[in-house]
Amino acid sequence: MERVLIEKTPNLVGKIVKLKGWVNIRRDHGKLIFIDLRDRTGKIQMVIIPDKEEAYKAAKEIRNEYIIEVEGLVKARPGGAKNEKSNTGGVEIEVEKLFVISKPEVEMPVNISEDNMNLQLETLLDNRTITLRNEKVKAIFKIYSEIISAYSRFMKSESFVEIKTPKILSSATEGGANFFKIKYFDQDAYLAQSPQFYKQAGAAIFERVFEVGSVFRAEPHYTTRHVNEYIGLDAEMAFIDGFEDVMDELEKVMQYVLSEIAKNCSRELEMYGVEIFPVEKIPKMKLTEALDILDKEYGKKMEEVDIDAEGERLICEWVKKNHQSDFVFLTHYPTSIRPFYSMPSSDPQYTETFDLLFMGVEIASGGQRIHDYNQLVASIKKKGLDPEQFNDYLDIFKYGVPPHGGWGLGSERIVQKILALGSIKEAILFPRDVKRLTP
Ligand code: ATP
Ligand code: MG
Repeated sequence: MERVLIEKTPNLVGKIVKLKGWVNIRRDHGKLIFIDLRDRTGKIQMVIIPDKEEAYKAAKEIRNEYIIEVEGLVKARPGGAKNEKSNTGGVEIEVEKLFVISKPEVEMPVNISEDNMNLQLETLLDNRTITLRNEKVKAIFKIYSEIISAYSRFMKSESFVEIKTPKILSSATEGGANFFKIKYFDQDAYLAQSPQFYKQAGAAIFERVFEVGSVFRAEPHYTTRHVNEYIGLDAEMAFIDGFEDVMDELEKVMQYVLSEIAKNCSRELEMYGVEIFPVEKIPKMKLTEALDILDKEYGKKMEEVDIDAEGERLICEWVKKNHQSDFVFLTHYPTSIRPFYSMPSSDPQYTETFDLLFMGVEIASGGQRIHDYNQLVASIKKKGLDPEQFNDYLDIFKYGVPPHGGWGLGSERIVQKILALGSIKEAILFPRDVKRLTP
């Protein structure tokens, strides 16, 4: 008999089926044994009655998280569908045969049978290979998977070429201190803290490129939105008329990605009590305007023309209240706080760059890049850096490059915000932070 997936059982009432999966929980009611079986498509209740002697004997030994195979009759469960969130509330399995496929050698360190586990973050992460089995935890990664695939799908439909750029670099390209140094045979190397230079090279070749790739940041952060390894959704596009083109493209990305999640992840969203609404036109404001609002409406003054995490949260609150949008583009960041490759605005104190904020945090940074070789060399010098250090990068521009720009979008923060997860680490299978290198 072929295995049937749990989600198919409501259409198979009256049939004998074979199911395989995990024992989510076993409950005994008098002489009856109830088992909730879990597979990749959902959960279903199974009942084992004493008359089925062999199955009953086997069921008595069963504990949570045993991996089993059963054969049984699909029966309608009157009234069952209404009071359960599960997709199979309307049916149950009357078990005829039951076999153990695999079982825990030792006691489970945490109980994962309840959808709401309420574990401490450290417990959740220390026992990651087990806690990830939990239905509600797993749902995070169904949504994450949808984000990654929807992003790629959309970028390809907009004729961006998917590229993969090296993550082992010979020098700390963009400068700064947030690089991990590694041993590379007999020399030092660095882990990429962005695909910036390679994706610009890509744009100079293919016009439009995107990458879904690992980014490493050696920042000793203890926040709810930083980890030391994350997946960046990057893009770079040539022949732009200005950085508005880049924002327009990113707006379309967010519209598509969120609509795909709404369409394909309704069960997962429901577990978190979340509804996704269509993304309308994303409001834009200059960073200086945002700082004015923070000052006037919230009495918050920044020392420099820059915004901090609290400011991002407050400005999102303001935008939500006044423009009914969960997104906002902040634009024209000062030259002093943007990388040397940022295109200056007509007022050269500012740049043609933006951040995209979503539900209180930055999820992307982007802008137009300098494409003129001499201007780029001058900009490197102005930052007090040595152009010699950027020879490989500058080679891209020596031979001519069209006007271009792009973004770096953090994938995990999107999930974190959509599901209102307390920490970004909950949106990562096996997160890496300052203290955590295992599991
Ligand atoms: P922040 O100011 O929040 O530290 P950043 O400006 O340093 O972020 P960028 O270099 O602009 O980050 O990276 C682009 C995007 O990548 C960010 O908008 C964010 O979504 C994501 N990102 C950056 N750093 C991290 C990190 N340490 N952990 C998780 N995601 C990150
Ligand atoms: Mg940024």
